Amino acid sequence: MERNSGHPFQSTKGPDRNLKDEGGYSLQRGCLFCSFLEAKENMIFETDRVYVFRDISPKASLGHFLMIPKWHIRSYRELIQVEYKSQVPRSMIAEVDSSASPLNQIAENIALLEHMQVEALNFLDKEFNEEYRSNDFYLGFHIPQIVMMPHLHMHILIGKLNFRGNIEFSRLIFSSIEWVMGRLEAEQKRLQKEYGGKY
Ligand SMILES: [Zn+2]
Ligand SMILES: [Zn+2]
Repeated sequence: MERNSGHPFQSTKGPDRNLKDEGGYSLQRGCLFCSFLEAKENMIFETDRVYVFRDISPKASLGHFLMIPKWHIRSYRELIQVEYKSQVPRSMIAEVDSSASPLNQIAENIALLEHMQVEALNFLDKEFNEEYRSNDFYLGFHIPQIVMMPHLHMHILIGKLNFRGNIEFSRLIFSSIEWVMGRLEAEQKRLQKEYGGKY
């Protein structure tokens, strides 16, 4: 199976999008965060894989930032459900390019989350001189069904949550990065059992 050359994370894109390529990354027309990526609007910092900007209505006392992947992923559910994307019949698996396998995709997605966590903590260390560690801080994602913005974004919240923050980031509708990572690792184990040895 031919894959687009270039960025390994391109495998997270699905077949059902209205896509255009910007510098090797897949963006979606009509997505606000993809338009930020194109215009480099409000940038705090970026890496090869992620882009960080300030939330326009901050809900934490010391700072509220959003970190997004530089290509369009709808939610963390897409990072977990890699198997539904490959669309390769199980009988053909021996013949396909192993880089497109669900096991490789889940490993790439776990590496993306690790990158997001490390970069967010480095940023907080630099920006807040470690004082944030004695304050509350949260790294996490809204649970997919109730996400208003259909582009994966990690909230970086430092300090006390305000009234709206307490509602928007309650445990009922908000998952920590550790929890999401746990889900991906569980899925990786399940896939290893199912596909183990075939790659
Ligand atoms: Zn987008
Ligand atoms: Zn959100």
